[in-house]
Amino acid sequence: MNHRLFIHNVHIVNDGECFEGAVVIEGEQVAEVLRGETSPARPCDETLDGQGAYLLPGVIDDHVHFRDPGLTQKADMESESRAAAAGGVTSYMDMPNTVPQTTTLEAFEAKMADAARKSRVNYSFYFGATNTNTPLLKDLDKSRVCGVKLFMGSSTGNMLVDRMDALRTIFSEAGILIAAHCEDQSVIAENIKRCKALYGDDPDVSHHPEIRSAEACYRSSELAVRLARETGARLHIAHISTARELTLLEAAPLENKHITAEACIAHLYFSQDDYAKLGTCIKCNPAIKTVADRAALRYALTDGKIDIIATDHAPHLLKDKEGGALKAASGMPMLQFSLVTMLELADEGVLSLTDVVEKMCHAPARLFSIEGRGYIRPGYQADLVLVRPDCPWQVCKENILSKCGWSPMEGHTYRWKVERTFVNGHPVYAEGKVDDTCRGQALKFNRN
Ligand SMILES: [Zn+2]
Repeated sequence: MNHRLFIHNVHIVNDGECFEGAVVIEGEQVAEVLRGETSPARPCDETLDGQGAYLLPGVIDDHVHFRDPGLTQKADMESESRAAAAGGVTSYMDMPNTVPQTTTLEAFEAKMADAARKSRVNYSFYFGATNTNTPLLKDLDKSRVCGVKLFMGSSTGNMLVDRMDALRTIFSEAGILIAAHCEDQSVIAENIKRCKALYGDDPDVSHHPEIRSAEACYRSSELAVRLARETGARLHIAHISTARELTLLEAAPLENKHITAEACIAHLYFSQDDYAKLGTCIKCNPAIKTVADRAALRYALTDGKIDIIATDHAPHLLKDKEGGALKAASGMPMLQFSLVTMLELADEGVLSLTDVVEKMCHAPARLFSIEGRGYIRPGYQADLVLVRPDCPWQVCKENILSKCGWSPMEGHTYRWKVERTFVNGHPVYAEGKVDDTCRGQALKFNRN
C-alpha cells in the first residue's frame, strides 16, 4: 500500500480557479482533490494542516543553465536543483551550452544519466543545434528531448548558428520544438563599434541595452518567425525582451499557435533604471530594456502573446561579473526566487494568481506535452508547492542555495514564502531544508 498524505486547510490554485480544499497524495501521485473542509475517501497515514497556505502545482521552468558539465565552478546539477526545490520549482529544462556542449547524442545521454544521479527535482535537456550537426536532429528521441536550442545570437559558450543554409535546414528538419535565442549579430557588432568609440573599450553596463539593442532582438526574432512560417516549424522564442517583438506574436491560446514565446523574470521585474543600483548583477542577454518594454511584456502575460514565464537561470561567479557592458559575464541566478517574485507581481495587480499558475506551471506542461505533470489532478504526479502569504523574509547570502552564492534579489523582502515542495509525492523541501535523499525523474513528452 502506498503512503497516503492528506493536505487540508489550503487554498488550491489550479485550472483557472482558486478554492479552499484538500489534496490526498498517494505514493508518487495525486489521488484526490477535494473542495471545502471534507474528509478523504479512504483513511490516510499522515495529515498536514496547511493553515490557510496556497497549494500550487510545482513550477516547470523551461529555461535554465545549470552549467554542468564543465562549468561547475559556477553551478552544478546538485546545487541548482536544490535551489529549484527551495523555490517551488519541481521540473526544469536545461540548456546545451555546457562543456562539452550538448550537441551530440552521447553528450545528451551523459547529461540524462548524471541528472538521474544528482538532480533533486525532475529534469530534461535541450539538444543544441550547430552550423554542422543538423543530420543528428532526425535521430532525437522526441519523448525524452524537450527541444532543440538554437542560438541565433551568441551568448555564454559560443553556439551561434549564423549560416542561412544551416538555419533553413534546422527549421525544415528539426521535427521538434525549436527554442530560439534571437539577437542579430551584425546589429550587435555595429553597436559595439559605435559604443566603443563613444565610451571606451568596456562601456558602463548601462550601455548594455544600446549594444544588445531592441533592433537586434527584433531583426532576429522577425527572421525566426519568417522561417517558422515558411517551413511550418514549431518555434518557441526564448526571453522576449522588447515591446516591438510582441508585434510578431499572436494573442491566442497556445494550442492554436505554432509560434510561442517565453518571457523571463529579469525582463518582467527589472528595467533599465535598475542598472544604476544593481550594475552588472542584472546584465543578461538579451539586455534588460526600458520601463515601457517591461510594461508591454507584463501586459502580454495577460493577453495571450506570452505563453510561458521562465528564469533563464544563468549563474556566474561574482568575479565573472566584474567589468562593464562588454567584459562582465551575462546572466544571473533567479530560479530560487522566480515563483515568489511572480506572486509579488500578482499582489501588485500585474497578473492574477491563476495567471501565475497558468504561465509557470500549466502552460509549460501543455506547450511541451509533458506527461502527467503541471496540474493538480488525480493520476498526475504529485509535484506541488505550498506557499504562504504574509510571511515576510529577506534574501541574504545565508539563504541562497545557488552555488554562485549571490543574487540580484539580495536585501529584498518577499511577502510570500515557499514552505514546502513535493516532487513525485516526496517532500523535497520543508521548513527551510532540502531532503538530499530525493531524486527527480526525467520528464516524458507525449508527442507524435
Ligand atoms: Zn538562456
